[in-house]
Amino acid sequence: MKVYYDKDANLDMLQGKKIAVLGYGSQGHAHANNLKDSGMDVVVGLREGSNSIKKAQDAGLAVASIADAVSQSDIVMVLLPDENQAAIYENEIRDNLKQGAALAFAHGLNIHFDYIKPREDIDVFMAAPKGPGHLVRSTYTQGGGVPCLVAVAQDSSGNALETAIAYASAVGGGRAGIIETTFKDETETDLFGEQAVLCGGTTALVQAGFETLVEAGYPPEMAYFECLHELKLIVDLMYEGGIANMRYSISNTAEFGDLTRGPRVVNEQTKAEMKKILEEIQSGQFVKEFFADNEQGGKVFPELRARGADHQIEEVGAKLRGMMPWIEAGKIVDKSKN
Ligand code: NAD
Ligand code: MG
Ligand code: MG
Repeated sequence: MKVYYDKDANLDMLQGKKIAVLGYGSQGHAHANNLKDSGMDVVVGLREGSNSIKKAQDAGLAVASIADAVSQSDIVMVLLPDENQAAIYENEIRDNLKQGAALAFAHGLNIHFDYIKPREDIDVFMAAPKGPGHLVRSTYTQGGGVPCLVAVAQDSSGNALETAIAYASAVGGGRAGIIETTFKDETETDLFGEQAVLCGGTTALVQAGFETLVEAGYPPEMAYFECLHELKLIVDLMYEGGIANMRYSISNTAEFGDLTRGPRVVNEQTKAEMKKILEEIQSGQFVKEFFADNEQGGKVFPELRARGADHQIEEVGAKLRGMMPWIEAGKIVDKSKN
């Protein structure tokens, strides 16, 4: 598999062009600021009355309505919520796109499952950082970058891949590695990763561990440190040198427990469920379920979100983190700015 780095990227593909970044959320603020710091001409497209207008202006970025940002630009990166993209494409993007412009995404879902059917004269590419937007920004400012996937769904200009690689490099991906893939593979692996391992799997594991200790009568504070706080320290070791590096650092006792008990927690049944989850993603069933809930004004989603926020682990955690001021001082998410 070919991995591209900054040296392989031709930033001339972006010079003299205007780039619209639609949305100023997790990914939007990161792309807009990283592109600007890489010397690119950026305009942020936001809806009227958006809270983000002030945040983007305070960061020194030009802001316009979505329609105006699109009609001014040669490259339009869509960083709006996936569930709103198709309607916004129909109403505000399609007829405002310049002839021969490029439409770009950070996730392939709407193109892969045909919710957006792009105009035929344009390029359609993806530049998808493999990390949360706030880290796409913070690692870039520290001189690093988050690895990035690129893909091309439509190549009218004949340069769509070169443009995608240049874009990925300008948001910092070329420092860590840029991998070429397809909209299909990015969509399916991204959804699987966030559901089974990164977000769904991890939060369910942490909560179940916390509940097990608390239900057995141990103090919630101890359960929080054991099952949530320390997870970062363990993951940092895996990030640095893989699972083997983490096992080198932990005690023999911990390692024996890891190797003999871990496969009982995540077992054959868990893996069978993971396969089912992957099939629901591949068939489009997951996306259909998510979009249907959103169309009804969001029924299941807000309820589940509220239940998560009410969990005892959040309350205990807030209290304990208050005693560790260095966490707040180095924080990645600052809701007043990003
Ligand atoms: P987000 O929810 O953080 O931000 C969305 C932005 O769109 C906000 O600025 C919001 O104000 C604006 N917005 C919301 N609803 C709107 C509407 N109806 N009309 C106009 N503007 C609206 O979104 P995000 O998590 O950054 O996701 C954006 C895209 O990036 C998605 O395609 C997502 O799959 C992809 N992505 C996200 C991450 C991540 O770290 N969050 C990682 C990789 C890819
Ligand atoms: Mg995702
Ligand atoms: Mg221990």
